[in-house]
Amino acid sequence: MTATILDGRAMGAEIRTELRAEIARYVHACGRAPGLVIVRVEGDAASGVYSKAILRIAGDIGVQARLELLPGTTTEEQLRATLRTLNSDETVQGIIVQMPLPAHLSQQMVAETIAVEKDIDGISPQSSGNLFLGLPGFLPSTAAAVMEILERSGTPLEGGRVIVLGRSNVVGKPLAMMLLQKNATVTICHSRTANLASFTRQADVLVAAVGRPNMVSAEMVRPGATVIDVGINALSTGGIVGDVDFAAVREVAGALTPTPGGVGPLTNVLLLKQCVRAAWQQLGEQVTQGKEAFQA
Ligand code: NAP
Repeated sequence: MTATILDGRAMGAEIRTELRAEIARYVHACGRAPGLVIVRVEGDAASGVYSKAILRIAGDIGVQARLELLPGTTTEEQLRATLRTLNSDETVQGIIVQMPLPAHLSQQMVAETIAVEKDIDGISPQSSGNLFLGLPGFLPSTAAAVMEILERSGTPLEGGRVIVLGRSNVVGKPLAMMLLQKNATVTICHSRTANLASFTRQADVLVAAVGRPNMVSAEMVRPGATVIDVGINALSTGGIVGDVDFAAVREVAGALTPTPGGVGPLTNVLLLKQCVRAAWQQLGEQVTQGKEAFQA
């Protein structure tokens, strides 16, 4: 068997087309494009690459995005003040802070300071709580990208057995909650899981979000399973590979995402999709508040 390749770039292009139409409707309704600010504290070179990628996609679909670049010497108080200013800026509908931050800055402070209605990468405790409770809210974009791939590829989830490798707050845990909402039977595995392969071999859908190059071998995959590879691992020899041994697993799996070209290209598109959603929600609130003020 050779797996069907789940092409994240093609799906990303489809969503961009949908978003262009959505943004045109938004601009028609409120006279300006949705605004996005990426806050980046200088230090981590890789996060600069991510910022550029988000800005490029935003420009392509019509989101008004800009980078707020802060020096590496920025204090916690200065970063908090920047976020509060953006929280109250009516031209800004979505805020993301590029991770990792320099060690002296607290990720928790950032998560607790970004206004929930602008938290388009779902990092705040309230966004996480909403997800846990099954309430509407913004979702961590990588986990949302995995769900989008499963949905667009028509992968059945209800009643199916899904194994998620990895329990991080940005990928594994939120993804498990989203899968549960789709009535999958979900098991989360991690570095302390004993006899990992006995779990992975049961999976109808196997998601790897571990950060270990080529860790998932063909022997760990049930024939015909759908395998989603979230991992992005830079090799010392150059090039990027996922957590799944692509060449071997494609001979066993029913469907498989490539790396690069799978989850990665969708993540930023989904982030922008949530920015557009935030813009509509904030516009709706303004209309409601305006009506209430008029009626008062
Ligand atoms: P992370 O915070 O380092 O979490 C990794 C998880 O994998 C942890 O839960 C860890 O278990 C588990 N793990 C480590 N070694 C394991 C092993 N041998 N067997 C089973 N589980 C193991 O990483 P992350 O942020 O979730 O990212 C995971 C991967 O996805 C990375 O390669 C990252 O670059 C990639 N990523 C991709 C995107 C994208 O857009 N495609 C976005 C974000 C991340 P413990 O909890 O027990 O330590």
